[in-house]
Amino acid sequence: MADSIFTKIINREIPSEIVFEDERVIAIRDINPQAPVHLLVVPKAPDYQNVAELAAADASLLAHVVATAQSLAEEHAGGQYRLIFNTGAEAGQTIFHVHAHVLAGGLEEGTLAGN
Ligand code: 5GP
Repeated sequence: MADSIFTKIINREIPSEIVFEDERVIAIRDINPQAPVHLLVVPKAPDYQNVAELAAADASLLAHVVATAQSLAEEHAGGQYRLIFNTGAEAGQTIFHVHAHVLAGGLEEGTLAGN
């Protein structure tokens, strides 16, 4: 299968604003932000299309994605945020390489999603 946009970003074939990286994940600023802080936390492994696949195959990597989201939200937004994993095209997923959206700042009370 062709490399996803995120794999191309991880491999530095496409530029992006990288806010964090370690051996297992990369975190970037979303190119089309839906909130004042909109980051994406992406496992480097290209094997998982969505969060359920990731959870079933590598729970510790999912836990690391969540811990990374928490620490980035503390750094960028005072530690309060929404964590969204779109799953399926009808739910708005456009890139089938699992990623967490970290949204913070200016979110309306009571809405399900920030966008
Ligand atoms: P999805 O819709 O799959 O849940 O999320 C994909 C996200 O990736 C979207 O919010 C979209 O704005 C973002 N995105 C798509 N292409 C790029 C890109 O080339 N660079 C960055 N930084 N974000 C991207």
